Amino acid sequence: MAPHATENGATNGTSQSGGLDFTTFSNVIDGKLSSTQKTRHGINPATAKANPEVPVSTQEDVESAMAAGKKAAKQWAKTPYAERQKAVLAWADAIESEKDGFAKLLTQEQGKPLHFAAFEMDFTLQIIRTMANLELPTEEIIDEADRKVLVRYTPLGLTVGIAPWNYPVLLTCSKIAPCVVTGNPIIIKPSPFTPYGGLKVVELAQRFFPPGVVQALSGDDSLGPWLTAHPAPAKVSFTGSSATGKRVMESCAKTLKRVTLELGGNDPAIVLDDVNVDEVAPKIATLAFLNSGQICLALKRIFVHEKIYESFRDKMVEHTKTLKVGEGFEKDVFLGPIQNSMQYERVKGFFEAIDTEKYNVAVGGKNPEGPGYFITPTIIDRPKEDSRIVVEEPFGPIVPLLTFSTDEEAIEKANNTNYGLGASVWSGDVERAAKVAKELEAGSVWVNTHFEIDPRAPFGGFKESGIGTEFGVGGLKSYCNSQTLYLKKK
Ligand code: NAD
Repeated sequence: MAPHATENGATNGTSQSGGLDFTTFSNVIDGKLSSTQKTRHGINPATAKANPEVPVSTQEDVESAMAAGKKAAKQWAKTPYAERQKAVLAWADAIESEKDGFAKLLTQEQGKPLHFAAFEMDFTLQIIRTMANLELPTEEIIDEADRKVLVRYTPLGLTVGIAPWNYPVLLTCSKIAPCVVTGNPIIIKPSPFTPYGGLKVVELAQRFFPPGVVQALSGDDSLGPWLTAHPAPAKVSFTGSSATGKRVMESCAKTLKRVTLELGGNDPAIVLDDVNVDEVAPKIATLAFLNSGQICLALKRIFVHEKIYESFRDKMVEHTKTLKVGEGFEKDVFLGPIQNSMQYERVKGFFEAIDTEKYNVAVGGKNPEGPGYFITPTIIDRPKEDSRIVVEEPFGPIVPLLTFSTDEEAIEKANNTNYGLGASVWSGDVERAAKVAKELEAGSVWVNTHFEIDPRAPFGGFKESGIGTEFGVGGLKSYCNSQTLYLKKK
């Protein structure tokens, strides 16, 4: 069901499905739903109409959630690992039974096409279940005649999870699952642009976790700094831009909170001269324009070998012309709107640079009129390598195509950035591509694909793309102290 307008012009929430009410949204503090005197709302970016009201948390709400989280921490840390795993898996089952409602909610709040919203939900479930099923046993490092040395992983304590607006449910659940399975309570702060899905998964969690273990606070721009500066949390797990990540780290330094920072990217693709152009060019276009380019790991700089450049560009252009832009509830839409007006204006700034920086447009270049925040997928043909479109992360569907003539030159150009999140190398010769891949400065590097994350493997960034990793056993360990236990046998 598509969202519908009410008399006052606000879009109503999606329907109730599977028993969860997708029309009202609350904070979750100490096991209870609560509202606030002041409220606000996000915008449906396809229509620019208001979504339902959400709380604007006060400092008192922060204090209540911190106190409840601290209180819950002791008991939850003592709860056996297997019981915590059971609770997380039961929560995943409950999310699954509400999957359709969550997918519609995601389209309404984030803008992404419904089939991609359903994919976000499926991948969310895969992440939660993978993280819940991993084990983190005590490691026996030394066993000698007179002593044993063990390494135990103990919960850090109360954690704050801060999420951005591009994958609101997936990124929220990617923090909750490993945090609580390792014995830590968590307070989730969703993005003010997309608070709905995050609040709902936490509401649903109340059926499976004791009060105070999984909490959520929605708010305005004051809330994030209040949470990171508060002395109670032991850790902040943050996903967002590199600029905000630096502020979070600075704030956390005051009480030496642990941080995991998953930040921005300016991912390169290196397309070698031996690829099958007809097969690879459409894939590269897809990976640049997926989620309307609003993915940390979207392809943002595409380096194509000069020998095949023209045919590769033309094939990418041909494919890009087939990608439909529109409201996420419409059939066959590939690109939904940009999620919010601030980001929309920022992305439009790169279109203004078409004139001011004299870019050659291979396809796209003109955007439709509002009210929704729609942007036409656009390819810029060989801009200067120090131009904005190459150096910055646009986080929208506009991407530069660049050239190189040797593998060494491609490596040098790809690494010429402060970011280091993902990268990919495309070639008919996997060994040659792997050799190039190993030289790239990025946390995840793919050969002949991109963005294919597996939650069993660590995920994180080099350079200004982040600190620490999520996913895999390392992701579990990031929510733990490592304690070395020396046991003298006599
Ligand atoms: P953002 O940094 O503006 O906001 C992220 C979150 O931080 C929001 O919840 C926001 O309210 C909060 N916040 C803002 N200022 C804060 C402060 N001073 N203290 C604490 N919290 C604060 O990012 P965004 O615009 O929501 O998301 C887009 C960015 O996120 C892009 O750069 C993208 O590459 C990055 N991202 C990274 C990953 C990853 O896994 N590496 C994943 C998704 C998005």
